[in-house]
Amino acid sequence: MTDPQVEPAPTRALPLVIAPPRGRQKPPRHLADLSAEERAAAAAELGEPAFRVKQVAHHYFGRLERDPANMTDLPAKNRDAIASALLPKLLDPVRTMEADQGTTRKTLWRLFDGALVESVLMRYPERATICVSSQAGCAMACPFCATGQGGLQRNMSTAEIIDQVVDGASAMANGLVPGGPGRLSNVVFMGMGEPMANYKAVIGAIRRMVAPAPDGLGMSARNITLSTVGLVPRIKQLTDEGIPVTLAVSLHAPDDELRDELVPINTHFKVAETVEAAWEYAKKSKRRVSIEYAMMRDINDQAWRADLLGDVLNAYGDWNWVHVNLIPLNPTDSGPMLNGQVFTRSRSDDMREFVRRLEAKGISTTIRDTRGDEINAACGQLAATE
Ligand code: SAH
Repeated sequence: MTDPQVEPAPTRALPLVIAPPRGRQKPPRHLADLSAEERAAAAAELGEPAFRVKQVAHHYFGRLERDPANMTDLPAKNRDAIASALLPKLLDPVRTMEADQGTTRKTLWRLFDGALVESVLMRYPERATICVSSQAGCAMACPFCATGQGGLQRNMSTAEIIDQVVDGASAMANGLVPGGPGRLSNVVFMGMGEPMANYKAVIGAIRRMVAPAPDGLGMSARNITLSTVGLVPRIKQLTDEGIPVTLAVSLHAPDDELRDELVPINTHFKVAETVEAAWEYAKKSKRRVSIEYAMMRDINDQAWRADLLGDVLNAYGDWNWVHVNLIPLNPTDSGPMLNGQVFTRSRSDDMREFVRRLEAKGISTTIRDTRGDEINAACGQLAATE
């Protein structure tokens, strides 16, 4: 995030429409970016029969294979040309760091234009999750989040998003994570960026994840979590999309006064309309929504705020439509302050009391485990500082 070319970090006044910087080259076109018609056109451009693209798709999505040398059903003399046209290298690993006995792996990737993003693969006994980035940097400027401090560099393409998932799936399949070969089951959009501010590419990526092979990765939509600051018009658009992904809304405060500070987009979309949009999503998708709430000592963790959060959520829904996920605040280097107070993690007692108050109001609540803490791979710590 130190590239002098990048736009300066936005101040608190956020534009409603966050356009990517103009006049830049786009990431190379990749199979994962193509619609069915575009695939046919790509085959024609290469002078290959249409089924050739299907063969490549079978390798990439079905077998998680990206090395043309192993695609022996492609004609040997054209293999490299086909692969470089359809599977250009999008993510160049700069560094991999491990924690939790190797079951948490963070990778720093360099994109074609030098932009840096990170993804984190986490293996648990019963599942494996990849946390992906959707933008290089982020324009949302939440003061407690490491990524938010550097501003937005650019949106990522569908294929740049998908390739992080394919990489994680292939690491699992090839037994690179302790525990033997396994399957990547979950994707969370909780890496760098605000996925709803890169809506088209993110939805394209989700469609590829859920499409059965060879058109996609054949993952279950319910195992994909889209986490957002709450761009209300985009939540509504997602509701109409009809893809039953899990929606997570980063609320962090139940009152506008504090949320305006913690999640600056709240100056445009207030708590009530954000929670209402989340409820509409739950109602239509029949999927329980997650409310993310980073626990910050003496800032948003007072017992009265737990009660208020309970009331704000209980204003909607006649079923158990919402789940609160408390995230013990992860330290970031930037150490920004709010009203003279440094952001630190809540005391355990305060967290327990917060849970108790919410549960007393009938709201299921959990405290998230903080994987990858020591390699700065936990929530909100992803900031490519090379
Ligand atoms: N832009 C999306 C994804 C961000 S990362 C969003 O805001 O939802 C996923 C979660 O981590 C968000 O809830 C985010 O608010 C939270 N987060 C950010 N910084 C954090 C920190 N320092 N400690 C704990 N959680 C943090």
